[in-house]
Amino acid sequence: MSDERLISIDRIWARVRGRLRQEFGESTYRSWIRSLVLEDVVGERVTLAAPTLFMRDRIVSQYGDRITLAWAAESADTVNDCSITVRSSDEPVTEAEAGGSKGTTNSLSMEPKTIGTKFKRENSLDGSLDSRFTFDNFVVGKPNELAYAAAQRVSGSDEVLFNPLFLYGAVGLGKTHLMHSIAWDIRRRDPSRRVLYLSAEKFMYQFIRALRFKDTMAFKDQFRSVDVLMIDDVQFIGGKDSTQEEFFHTFNALVDQNRQVIISADKSPTDLEGLEERLRSRLGWGLVADIHPTTYELRLGILQSKVEKLGVAVPTKVLEFLAHKITSNVRELEGAMNRIAAHATLVGRDITLEATQEVLHDLLRSYERRVTIEEIQRQVASHYQIRVGDMHSARRSRSIARPRQIAMFLAKQLTQHSLPDIGRRFGGRDHTTVLHAVKKIDELCIIDKQFQDDVEFLRRMLET
Ligand code: ADP
Ligand code: MG
Repeated sequence: MSDERLISIDRIWARVRGRLRQEFGESTYRSWIRSLVLEDVVGERVTLAAPTLFMRDRIVSQYGDRITLAWAAESADTVNDCSITVRSSDEPVTEAEAGGSKGTTNSLSMEPKTIGTKFKRENSLDGSLDSRFTFDNFVVGKPNELAYAAAQRVSGSDEVLFNPLFLYGAVGLGKTHLMHSIAWDIRRRDPSRRVLYLSAEKFMYQFIRALRFKDTMAFKDQFRSVDVLMIDDVQFIGGKDSTQEEFFHTFNALVDQNRQVIISADKSPTDLEGLEERLRSRLGWGLVADIHPTTYELRLGILQSKVEKLGVAVPTKVLEFLAHKITSNVRELEGAMNRIAAHATLVGRDITLEATQEVLHDLLRSYERRVTIEEIQRQVASHYQIRVGDMHSARRSRSIARPRQIAMFLAKQLTQHSLPDIGRRFGGRDHTTVLHAVKKIDELCIIDKQFQDDVEFLRRMLET
């Protein structure tokens, strides 16, 4: 390769990095992308190298698509394929090197992994199955046992037992993981069965493209010939009428032919918005299984299994701390674990509770942003220039009663305190008074935009 070409690719790589930095934000960029180096360019294919196998796999699965897209955006005519390999382990990455263009590949033991090509993206419908999302890697607990059992039944049976299987739950609780697990499992048992997995967004995109190219027959055919169809995140087709219509027909055609359909969404069929009634009711005909928010035990279990797979030594104390603190969803929990592991690998130090708190301080802070009732009273009083004491007083003039109601409203919204408890902290008032305040403020927010802005401003002040 000519030096000129290398320099030009290097320049493109710098732009790609800039783009990724903007897209992912500083912290993700630093933890993952910054450690990649430009390794090789052959024809239109570039190879990047990550410092470790763990990081390589993680980058490929988490950021692969976006990295490919960034290359495509910056250099569609020069580069159309990107793979990521691993640098030899005896060569530590230094700041100066990161982002440079040197590095050696341990090509004997680690084949470069392709993170996606344009060709693949357009022509393969199911190239999107994640190899980590298997039943083996799924930790079962109370919150997800029903969904797990249903998924296993569906993939383990040749008969169609319930149609559709409808999985629902909040983001990051394992819906996609379960769907991919079913797909892998069915393929393993019987490779001749045709399984098609795609997101509702992709379904929509393909449908619109088929309409544009007047190719709807081919579009329909590819669905109608499958044995198992899975559509993920179906809430995204809400409100999109023509896509919904098409989805409904596809769905009916498959169910009529006794083919298995599996759907996921963030809400139950009855709560899905923007869906036609007939589709909504049809979706609820089979088995509807929900995944509940995680419990402490499940979070701990997931962390333990994760640590085993990563092969890193993490003290139990650290795992318990994380399971206790990071309660939102499994994706965040995994993200935290990966950050700690990546940090430990890079700096070569043991994982301790102190190091954990340091590495995750931004994430942990967002969980600790617990506002107290006293803070709310202080902030609201100062905003309306009344005395904090008036929050507890019996004075009823509007200039005082209204801010007091706002404070009660915010206390209800921003803290975990019950209505009676809030009442007690506002001069021993009854819970019905608090309830009345909450309703009143809600009402005023609806009819008075200025008022709503005011309350919104206070909320933001308190939350940050
Ligand atoms: P959803 O599709 O519900 O938003 P995902 O299936 O993408 O959530 O899960 C988010 C991440 O959490 C994935 O990396 C997944 O492997 C992991 N995950 C979720 N639930 C579990 C579980 N019970 N055991 C192991 N990993 C899980
Ligand atoms: Mg998902």
